[in-house]
This record gives sequence, C-alpha cells and structure tokens, in this order.
Amino acid sequence: MPFHILVISMEMLIFMCFEKEFLDSVSLIWREIVQNGTSYTFEVMMDENSSRVRTVHFNTTTMEIRCTCKKFDFCGYLCSHAI
Ligand SMILES: [Zn+2]
Repeated sequence: MPFHILVISMEMLIFMCFEKEFLDSVSLIWREIVQNGTSYTFEVMMDENSSRVRTVHFNTTTMEIRCTCKKFDFCGYLCSHAI
C-alpha cells in the first residue's frame, strides 16, 4: 500500500475514534467535585447510579487535562470523559 494512502487511512481511523468518543460524551453526566484556583476536578459517569466513575482533572492555566481512564496516554486522542 502506498505510504500516502496509509497515512490517510490512519488519519481517518483516528478521526472515527475521536468521533465515537465525542458522540459518547453527549450522554455522560459530570459533576464538579473540587475547584482550587485554576484547577478543576470532575467526576464523570454514564448515569447517577453508575458504579463506573472516571475522574477528570483540568487546569485552565496550563490547559492540561487528565482522565483516570488514561485513554489519551494509550490512544493519543481525548476520551469521552474529557471532551
Ligand atoms: Zn477518560
């Protein structure tokens, strides 16, 4: 397979993964649990009774965002919890 087609395919695959995360994020429930200056911490879950809770840390000064699912660390795109 020519290299430029492989690059386009990888870009399309990453876009499709991000699109899925974006669409999944619409139905999530989040609540702010800590605010300390420019640092915010949120809990994110599927519904109020969900036992699967992710914690998202966001710093508005550094624009750093981290989620306990660590999808960004493994996949390189934001997870539904952090979007
Ligand atoms: Zn996450």
